[in-house]
Amino acid sequence: MAQQEPFDAVEVTDTTGKLFTRTRSRRYMDWLRIGVYTLTIGVFAALFTTGVLDRAENIVFDAFQRAGGFTRTDPRIALVEITGETIDEVGSWPWPRRYFAVMARLLDQWGAAAIVPDITFRNETTPRDDQDLIRALQRIRTPLYLPVEYELRRDKKFWIHGLPVVIEKSDGKMEWVHSLAEIEASAKGLGHHYFEPDPDGVLRRFSPELSSGTTVFPQVALLAAREISGGPAVPEKKDVRATEILPWVAGWENRFTRFSYSDLIHSYYGLQKGMVPVISPEAVKGKICFIGVTAGGNAESRMTAFGVSCPRVALNAQIANAALTGQWIRGVPRPVNLLLILITGVVAAFLFMVLRGPVALIAGFCFGLGWLGAAFAVFRFARVWIFPAHPMLLIFSLFVFSAIYVQATATRERSALFHLATRDGLTELYVIRHFRLIMNQLVREAFMRKEPLSVILLDIDHFKGINDTYGHLAGDMVLKKIAHTLVTSIRKKRPFSQVDFAARYGGEEFILMLRKSGFRETVERVAERLRQKVEGLSFEWDGKPFRVTISLGVSTLRPGENVPDPMVHRADVALYKAKESGRNKVCSE
Ligand code: GH3
Ligand code: MG
Ligand code: MG
Repeated sequence: MAQQEPFDAVEVTDTTGKLFTRTRSRRYMDWLRIGVYTLTIGVFAALFTTGVLDRAENIVFDAFQRAGGFTRTDPRIALVEITGETIDEVGSWPWPRRYFAVMARLLDQWGAAAIVPDITFRNETTPRDDQDLIRALQRIRTPLYLPVEYELRRDKKFWIHGLPVVIEKSDGKMEWVHSLAEIEASAKGLGHHYFEPDPDGVLRRFSPELSSGTTVFPQVALLAAREISGGPAVPEKKDVRATEILPWVAGWENRFTRFSYSDLIHSYYGLQKGMVPVISPEAVKGKICFIGVTAGGNAESRMTAFGVSCPRVALNAQIANAALTGQWIRGVPRPVNLLLILITGVVAAFLFMVLRGPVALIAGFCFGLGWLGAAFAVFRFARVWIFPAHPMLLIFSLFVFSAIYVQATATRERSALFHLATRDGLTELYVIRHFRLIMNQLVREAFMRKEPLSVILLDIDHFKGINDTYGHLAGDMVLKKIAHTLVTSIRKKRPFSQVDFAARYGGEEFILMLRKSGFRETVERVAERLRQKVEGLSFEWDGKPFRVTISLGVSTLRPGENVPDPMVHRADVALYKAKESGRNKVCSE
């Protein structure tokens, strides 16, 4: 209730059905709001380009995969697994090469479509073993696709049973690690089987081809699948570049045809002895056979979007399956994602500019959820991956900012409306209606605390004459100046209990309420000082100087009084007395 600085109300509009005040500062706040929105959108664009929030996208991506991943598998894929039991049974890993020679002959005899071992036969072992394998591979008609590996020379790597595993990239020279020349010569094609997980350890993407200098190797399973399905010998660059996302088949363990190596060997020898085999040749016929280790500690495996690890041989099967069934997930190019983020940001900002309160909350919620739903629908049905997390987080951020902003402006508007309702437009003093409320309260307080309280009623002398001589505008100027003199003359600093109040009582009459000023002499002194101050003011209108005087009536609250009216009445009587006795003076009740 303390006196406030003049308020710069510019216009009052009624666009929302509710009256609110637009002030110059409000318009400035609108620009501030647009500025903060733009900044927020810009920050998100920057976050996007730096990839800081990609992890959030990955979490959503994994969830999408789990909720709407692929389930279709091509019957032409088979996994020959070297499991833990196989190793227990056959012997510790790595095995002698002649074991693979047996495997190659078997798969060839049974009519496999292709053989893709997840094993690089890189170092010489015993001459007999190596020769055995080489001879077997030279004789089979089934196409063989061999993996080659990246090796980082002069760099950290460790070895698992002859297979190098890169654990850290550096500037070290990249080299390809090939199988022994004669083994390699018997292969129909060479491809890489290098998988690099995302920073969180989950594998989501693969490279359709890797190159070092002029040497280019397609992904080995992709290569095999393309050749088997009659596709181009080398994957078309344009096609594979767009499909770097690895399409997981949910629950691949139960969907792909899988044999254990030992069952296959048992069946092979069993058949030769005229026994009924566990696995019949029909099961292998026409299939691309991926051979690899799945035994826990020996298999190279990667974490999947499904939260379980997948051995590399199965990753190859997944890629071949995608190539054969055409189940690819295409990620939209990053600039498109950026554009979508910007568009959602602008739309959300617009929504939050227009809507308020619960409606804005609901709209923001629906927009964010709608975006997620749309992204999922596009993922599920069109197999296109667009980023949902960035736009959703952006919508959320814009909403939080809007909520804070709306709260802040609501408070401002409330106080602006309060000001409008309680202040006189010309003098900025309280209007009498509001002043009465203040008076009632202060009188009650003074009554209960038995504190002194006084009022001064004052009226400008011969004001009509000023209006008549200089015009109404001059009269207004006088009113303003005197009001200003009053406000600056009373106590309005804290503590609040000592704040005095001034109001415009009527046309050119003012009323002051002075707290804790009871002794008549004190109030009279204040009134006298006011009189002198006004008398000392020099006015000028149209170059003509003139002076103004006021008459004042003073009264104090009497013991036992708990309403202001008798006191105000006494002040009125005193003021009349001052006017009667010649004006420009202070009279007490
Ligand atoms: P007295 O010394 O007896 O008070 O004489 P007076 O002329 O001041 O008294 P009176 O009450 O007859 O005149 C008051 C005048 O104040 C009448 C009215 O036109 C003028 N007035 C009231 N409100 C305003 C205002 O907001 N602006 C201006 N310019 N004049 C106003
Ligand atoms: Mg007057
Ligand atoms: Mg008057």
